[in-house]
Amino acid sequence: MSKTAKRVVDIVLSLAIATFIIYNYNPNSNLLSFGKDRQNLQALRSSKGDVYGFSLDSFHVEKNNIIKKNEFFGGILSAYGMTANLILLLEHEAKDIFNIRNIQAGKKYHIIKKNECDDKPVAIIYEPDNYKYVVYDFRDSINVKLVEKEIELCQATVHGVIEGTLWKALEKEGVHPSVIDLMEDALSSSVDFYHTQKGDEFRLIYENKYIDGDIVGVGKLIGASYSNDGGTSYSMLYNTKDGDGYFDAEGRPAKKAFLKAPVKFSRISSNYNLRRFHPIKGKTVPHLGTDYAAPYGTEIRSVADGVITNASYTGGNGNYVKVKHDGVYETQYLHMSRFAKGIKPGTRVKQGQTIGYVGSTGLSTGPHVCFRFWKKGKQVNHLKENLPAALPMNMTELPTFYKHRDQVINRLNEIEPAANSKANKKVNPA
Ligand SMILES: [Zn+2]
Repeated sequence: MSKTAKRVVDIVLSLAIATFIIYNYNPNSNLLSFGKDRQNLQALRSSKGDVYGFSLDSFHVEKNNIIKKNEFFGGILSAYGMTANLILLLEHEAKDIFNIRNIQAGKKYHIIKKNECDDKPVAIIYEPDNYKYVVYDFRDSINVKLVEKEIELCQATVHGVIEGTLWKALEKEGVHPSVIDLMEDALSSSVDFYHTQKGDEFRLIYENKYIDGDIVGVGKLIGASYSNDGGTSYSMLYNTKDGDGYFDAEGRPAKKAFLKAPVKFSRISSNYNLRRFHPIKGKTVPHLGTDYAAPYGTEIRSVADGVITNASYTGGNGNYVKVKHDGVYETQYLHMSRFAKGIKPGTRVKQGQTIGYVGSTGLSTGPHVCFRFWKKGKQVNHLKENLPAALPMNMTELPTFYKHRDQVINRLNEIEPAANSKANKKVNPA
């Protein structure tokens, strides 16, 4: 059996979602093309295959044991008849790969035996998270290895209606909630996600990330539509000469040249104010930035593409980063607990890229980012600025985009609500 075939064997299809197609990455024209169809998947899945590198024809696997509270790996191993010496040896061998002292209650482990009636396992598999597993193999000498699991991307579609919140509607349709972030990226220029209404409808073409048959997250959002009183808005992912982005039906970019805030889910704790009373200095000092309060360690993102010009420390600013975006605009982020990896003068950053983490270094009374917006060398209030729009798609790219757009919109419009398709199934006599 091929490697790909082995990987797919374990995938179990969730009935909640209508379409699953193995998806081969390629920009645009292939965004909507299907790799393998569902029948192929089914055929691959019917053979016995491997789990964690052990052939099910030759081994017996006791899957999905859970590490209990106050349970140690050594204890589990000795319960399976392993000697103290062997456990010590294993601990030593595993130290630099995955320390057996780091196992956690609630995580999964699997026992591999030669035969079902054997007491002693030939290997134990531990899963520190959904994305990888550790093999402790005792067959010859002790062998320990960390294996990254393969992520399988499958396209899915959904058509939902909002009754309470968008989150509830997605949950009802079995969609991983992380798709909300992508919907915001794709549609927030035309849809106000803070004021969704009962009866609003959405349709999505997106990718599910599968590991071992479980949905662990969402890959790309390929197309989305949202209908409310104001009509229907479309947005689709498209690869232009300048990179990937979401575009509306007219080919206008969904993103803004500048994000509104350098931290997600934050609140403004102090506005730009030329006559602010400074809490630490005890006198009126103009506040030339906007403060965003957020917990320690929250990711701080660059509000636009640019180049880092400064990543250093001063007594007032604490750890701060300054980014130059173009000939006019620069932004500055103060009081960071630390910089993100690789952030130093000369580094190119993309909009939304993490450049540091919220802290309270320098003259600061609590965890926040003081965000400073520079225009031609002067600090201004970014909330009052008329900021430039994102660059439009090059005119020469529009005809090809329109073809792609029509395909995406046609597919979106064909997506049936899952509730109806389920009802139809029930009605059909067996
Ligand atoms: Zn400030």
